[in-house]
Amino acid sequence: MILLGFDVEEFDLPLEYGRSISFDEQLSISTNGTNSILELLRSANIKATFFCTANYALHKPDIITKIVNEGHEIASHGYYHSDFKPEHLKQSKEVLEDISGTEVTGFRMARMMPVDEAEIKMAGYTYNSSINPTWLPGRYNNFDKPRTWFYEDGVLQIPASVSPLVRFPLFWLSFHNLSLPLIKWISLAAHRKDGYLNLYFHPWEFTDLHDKEKYGLPGYIARNSGELFISRIKNFIEWAQSKGLEFSGTGDFASSIMEKDTATKKLIPAQ
Ligand SMILES: [Zn+2]
Repeated sequence: MILLGFDVEEFDLPLEYGRSISFDEQLSISTNGTNSILELLRSANIKATFFCTANYALHKPDIITKIVNEGHEIASHGYYHSDFKPEHLKQSKEVLEDISGTEVTGFRMARMMPVDEAEIKMAGYTYNSSINPTWLPGRYNNFDKPRTWFYEDGVLQIPASVSPLVRFPLFWLSFHNLSLPLIKWISLAAHRKDGYLNLYFHPWEFTDLHDKEKYGLPGYIARNSGELFISRIKNFIEWAQSKGLEFSGTGDFASSIMEKDTATKKLIPAQ
């Protein structure tokens, strides 16, 4: 089983690199990327999860509707990408449920930063996919966290996938910088160990980010972006399907785990 998650946010990354980018352009870049992703998923006939900010959804409700109409899951990526307050957890869930007409049960924190599980539970989420169980210099050190799903404060945690042993992250940046054969080799090894893969990407990676002057992004982010990224992910999906691996939305995967655990009394459902 492979879980594909896409973080649909206002594209504010250039701001971190000292470039200015209008809000309209932030939205349109994410929208172009989302459309490319939807086309990819449609042609491969697979379902995925889109973790959206409420800010994006409020400005592009038609894209949220399109995602839902194509059978994918909407989850929350917070209210704003670059501002977080605990009350945003519940507020973003409500906005996304209102716009999508679906129940929102999953959450992913912007930039995979730590978030209080008690607040996540209070806001009504049943799963959280905000942990990258590895060490990223300058960002976080999660070597002490489990590498596969576990419960914390009654919320199912679904960490991003890492390689066995050294925990090399199988996250979005790896798909820009490693060769495809190496990515596939690590993916198979991680899948063999964990029984599933949890991979996450952003729509803007599926757009051309090579313009250094304009976006200010370092080579390790811009590398293989745009059409190159679309063909890499397409290649990866076709390869995974040829290996008999199936794809699923994160919410369906979370439900199947929680149903089993409720039946065996490992999980006491919230009242
Ligand atoms: Zn994000």
